[in-house]
Amino acid sequence: MHKVYLGLGTNQGDKEANLRAAVEEIEKRVGEITSLSAFYDTEPWGFASDNRFLNAVCCVSTGLEPFELLAVTQNIERMLGRRTKSVNGFYSDRPIDIDILLYDDLRLYTPTLTIPHPLMTERDFVMKPLEEIAPEVIRTLGADKKG
Ligand code: AMP
Repeated sequence: MHKVYLGLGTNQGDKEANLRAAVEEIEKRVGEITSLSAFYDTEPWGFASDNRFLNAVCCVSTGLEPFELLAVTQNIERMLGRRTKSVNGFYSDRPIDIDILLYDDLRLYTPTLTIPHPLMTERDFVMKPLEEIAPEVIRTLGADKKG
């Protein structure tokens, strides 16, 4: 089994219900959630919107390989109503966004999937919930950055 951290975000509709629905689908289709952070109310990041975000991070034990995992998380996004992707770094409101933050200690750099998620260390809405459920992981990331 692989240990995966997923970042969840929503800024449309009933945000708490969206996160709970995502968590339920992840449990069904990705694997057992071994920890789940609190839900954090955050500012939109990277684009202007009047709709604040609700964010969370969960740790999942999964048998899925990285690209299978991406297909499943994108499928869950679509199922929960996400119709548009961000294009060329332009972000928009979304009912649910699921990012693959970490996958064991894998380093993967491809056009469609980068792990660790390239912007995660710059985003408080990822790092705060991640620190809540996995402070030891944050220390490893810091050590990584120093070389
Ligand atoms: P977004 O619309 O912001 O959710 O961006 C999703 C796109 O980022 C997808 O088309 C993925 O192929 C790509 N991507 C690259 N790395 C990751 C990752 N670690 N987790 C989720 N999506 C990723």
